[in-house]
Amino acid sequence: MSQEDGSLEARLEEQDTFEPPESFVEQANVSDPGIYEEFEENWPDCWERAAEFLDWEEEYDDVLDESDAPSYQWFTNGKLNASQNCLDRHVEDGAKNRAAIKWEGELGETRTYTYGDLLNEVNEFASTLRDLGVEEDDVVTLYMPMVPELPIAMLACARLGAPHSVVFAGFSADALATRMNDADSEYLITCDGYYRRGDALDHISKTNEGLEDVEHETTTVVVDRLGDALEHSLSENQHDYDELIDEHAGESVEPVSRDAEDMLFLMYTSGTTGKPKGVKHTTGGYLAYSAWTSHSVLDLKPEDTYWCSADIGWITGHSYILYGPLALGTTTVMYEGTPDYPDKNRFWDIIERNRVDVFYTAPTAIRAFMKWGEQYPAQHDLSSLRLLGTVGEPINPRAWKWYYDHIGGGDCPIVDTWWQTETGGHMITTLPGVCDMKPGAAGPGLPGIDAQIVDEAGEEVDAGQAGYLTVQKPWPGMLRTLYQNDERFVNEYWTEYSDPENDEWVYFPEDGAKIDEDGYITVLGRVDDVINVSGHRLGTMEIESAVVGVEGVAEAAVVGGDHEVKGEAVYVYAIPEDGSEPGAELEEKAIEAILDSIGPIAKPEEVIFTHELPKTRSGKIMRRLLEDIASGNELGTTSTLRNPEVVDEIAEQVNED
Ligand code: ATP
Ligand code: MG
Repeated sequence: MSQEDGSLEARLEEQDTFEPPESFVEQANVSDPGIYEEFEENWPDCWERAAEFLDWEEEYDDVLDESDAPSYQWFTNGKLNASQNCLDRHVEDGAKNRAAIKWEGELGETRTYTYGDLLNEVNEFASTLRDLGVEEDDVVTLYMPMVPELPIAMLACARLGAPHSVVFAGFSADALATRMNDADSEYLITCDGYYRRGDALDHISKTNEGLEDVEHETTTVVVDRLGDALEHSLSENQHDYDELIDEHAGESVEPVSRDAEDMLFLMYTSGTTGKPKGVKHTTGGYLAYSAWTSHSVLDLKPEDTYWCSADIGWITGHSYILYGPLALGTTTVMYEGTPDYPDKNRFWDIIERNRVDVFYTAPTAIRAFMKWGEQYPAQHDLSSLRLLGTVGEPINPRAWKWYYDHIGGGDCPIVDTWWQTETGGHMITTLPGVCDMKPGAAGPGLPGIDAQIVDEAGEEVDAGQAGYLTVQKPWPGMLRTLYQNDERFVNEYWTEYSDPENDEWVYFPEDGAKIDEDGYITVLGRVDDVINVSGHRLGTMEIESAVVGVEGVAEAAVVGGDHEVKGEAVYVYAIPEDGSEPGAELEEKAIEAILDSIGPIAKPEEVIFTHELPKTRSGKIMRRLLEDIASGNELGTTSTLRNPEVVDEIAEQVNED
């Protein structure tokens, strides 16, 4: 590191507010600070601004119908088709030869689909699906890794008005069956296998195992990703994707006209808590909202090359790899594999080669990059980057600053976007062309988003205080219900702070947060991640942030474990940075950091060093498993983990100690 870098780093460490660079503001899609007031004054008509990003076959009557709250309806009686909005209209507007998807396989192969190509492929597959019997409103399950056939299938479903339900490819057979049964889904698109770290992984056997537990007849289409690398045979009702596409070559399907409120897709969320919830998103409100936030928060422009490194099996991939960027006519990059294959330069190489303008990833990835070291990004020309984003969990200031400095080169704004599967799109974050940034705080609610932090009684807390995050007004991208379970929808999200008798509805995302004097919100994590030590309520996220602030610690998870005296005690699981020794010294530093930032009440019972933590598909730490380990309980299900093997390793280690 040069001296100059050293002083920059020292300066960054001190600094807690960052202005967006002038050069960014000048070109930003949204740069007028008046937008907050404008939205507030014109609410709900302000949301026409989002609807304007779409082509409507028939204009809507009202922006919002609140008569059946909390079952809100947006853009009532409007008609449109999502695939037409993501494809046909761009082709008609002269963007036929612009790249829509730039795909890169883990082994290094690449495929580029122009908007024209993608429209053709989607048409052919839509025609195929229709021939197989798929009709409007049939739920089609997609159980596929990051191959181009996944977005093609999603858009083909959208074209037919058949909602898709994407099940993350890393999920178990059991998770697939549960979701297909819950959605009565009779169609499945899957693939033979895929590559991970160069090895061919069998996916079809897992699929077939899941299908054994599906309670109804299923028609399956199998994409051949591995060619001869995996021998498998198709049974009755299973079809080869390529053969079907050959039969339907050159065919096209008229986009089915959908009501704004018709379901576009179903997405099961179950990363970290109990039984999966089938979150229903709609054609009009969802698409308008993902396009609007892609424009205002991600600052996407048609000529941009944009890369979101999430998996499409997660809501982030739906809204911000596929629907938002394609609705805006942008080029979206899609990468199949892992960030350290064949080596730890992979992401920076993808950014450099594709001249990526905007990059969106998760704190867990950023902490892994930090752990590997700045020498990897330093070897690449990342000057094409204009804006960075993060999503999925709170980002601690140390990781934020590392991202800002080593990836953004000190001149790209960062948007720390808080949102959920249920919200459809970004909710709390800075507008990069308008707001200053404060590392660690996501930002204020977006224009038109009425986010408030309240106490147990539902009263707004004072600046500096922590409480419960709520959203006090509806927004177009919101979930409409939990599939076939309206009652659970109301119970899950609209009970704690609503007043049904007065028809006042408040959305409760089940996250805790605090707010500062500028209205910037720091999300502290889900409310059930609170540890109760001798009657004191401690937020796990705050303790974690203290631990990952320690030089030498790459990542940390904090949970409560049963304790005879205190009720609960704090357990810290930490991953050391590469080159740093896990041991008494590092443990001491971690404990000190906790004592400094929270106090002696949070002093951990044990600090356990491990090389990995159990994570969900979106990279979130599965804390309940770590709680089970700490409490010596029987371990809960690991079926939605992407690395189930680490659980036993950690359990063994704890038992040895
Ligand atoms: P489940 O609801 O099934 O337990 P999940 O909540 O992990 O799963 P997601 O909808 O993918 O599934 O995640 C949303 C949650 O992620 C938010 O409620 C919040 O806790 C966390 N989160 C997302 N983005 C941020 C962010 N920028 N800062 C802090 N927390 C975030
Ligand atoms: Mg959630």
